[in-house]
Amino acid sequence: MSFSTLGLSDEIVRAVTERGYTAPTPIQMQAIPAVLSGGDLLAGAQTGTGKTAGFTLPILHRLSDASVKGPSSGRPPIRALILIPTRELAAQVEESVREYGKYLKLNSMTMIGGVNINPQITKLKSRVDILVATPGRLLDHVQQKTVDLSHVEILVLDEADRMLDMGFIRDIKKILALLPKHRQNLLFSATFSDEIKALADGLLNKPAMIEVARRNATADNVAHKVYPVDRDKKRALLTHLIRQHNWSQVLVFTRTKHGANQLAEHLVKNDIPALAIHGNKSQSARTRALSEFKDGSLRVLVATDIAARGIDVVDLPHVVNFELPNVPEDYVHRIGRTGRAGASGEAVSLVCVDEYKLLADIERLLKRELPEEVVPGFEPDRNAKPEPIQNGRGSMAGRGRPAGRSSPRSSAQGAAKPRTAPAGTGGGNTGARPPSLHRSGGRHR
Ligand code: AMP
Repeated sequence: MSFSTLGLSDEIVRAVTERGYTAPTPIQMQAIPAVLSGGDLLAGAQTGTGKTAGFTLPILHRLSDASVKGPSSGRPPIRALILIPTRELAAQVEESVREYGKYLKLNSMTMIGGVNINPQITKLKSRVDILVATPGRLLDHVQQKTVDLSHVEILVLDEADRMLDMGFIRDIKKILALLPKHRQNLLFSATFSDEIKALADGLLNKPAMIEVARRNATADNVAHKVYPVDRDKKRALLTHLIRQHNWSQVLVFTRTKHGANQLAEHLVKNDIPALAIHGNKSQSARTRALSEFKDGSLRVLVATDIAARGIDVVDLPHVVNFELPNVPEDYVHRIGRTGRAGASGEAVSLVCVDEYKLLADIERLLKRELPEEVVPGFEPDRNAKPEPIQNGRGSMAGRGRPAGRSSPRSSAQGAAKPRTAPAGTGGGNTGARPPSLHRSGGRHR
């Protein structure tokens, strides 16, 4: 199957071919004809599947197709609105729009917070066919009456689950109320909670439904590895692993912004070039870190879940969970940065006694146990007691999560549950399972 057989115009196929894509990915094979047909779409796909081109290419085709032209008089209006949860991802998606549409006469624009609004206002006075926006800044423009959404023909909600996790539901509803009733709606989400289903029910009209395998949850080309280690030895272990394996490019996840900063500083002190990206960093600092990471001059990028969303680095060989995420789906999102497009990748998790419950949740989601290895010199203390997991004030890990999902308190309680230690271990009195034996007491309930 080729891009041209999917019904895309020659100009688009040419741009895609120049980008080096030879064949559409599974999500593209399904999404492109569905979007070209003009109907609504509900797609289960996460970053790494090629979903961006899956919606961008047919949107470009439809907007450049003379037979589906918008109003003929007046200044051309915004015809497609792509809503994205994070700034980085919005910038990347708009870059893709520009690249795939380079042989078309369509204009696009990124509208994100964290940067001066005035250049955006100026840009909006010129022709913008496709607007790629984060919800908060878009509403700033709505309030200032600098954007007109009344002619939008196609709406995309990308990473809808993440938008809800980040607390954008009210913003999204406000934006929806400003759009014409008659339009094409495309919703992409990696996971389908009841909240997402409710959003989809209210938004979509007889949608085509497609779901591509969560390739990263089951991908054979990603090797998972768990290193049990004491809480206070994690930094030293990470430094050791980077040096020992001579990892040239590592994306490291921490749970908090503060933790990201501290870890990056520690690595730099140990002569490993590292930078942290998270919500408190300025947009220019984040952009700089990302581009240095992409061009290979930065060895380690330390990121929180939200900030790392959508980092698009081809062939990233190593992803490290310095701390496990509170929500098991985030593990899947995190490792979605490695093992892309058939390349092999490694997902390494440094797990201390506080995190066994989180590890069990992740393994339940993946429906497999993750192989464990103790690094000599970093053997965990078998008598260590679990402590409540700190999320740090203002960290995204504790914010905007729907109530009732995994919380630091329940994690700690889960880990602290008395368990029966296997005979001869001498354990069982602390409530903390001896790390190397932590599987034997029924983590899989
Ligand atoms: P996405 O899921 O949209 O974030 O895309 C993941 C990665 O796959 C990006 O680096 C894209 O450039 C790349 N990609 C998208 N479509 C294709 C394709 N048909 N062939 C090869 N790579 C692709």
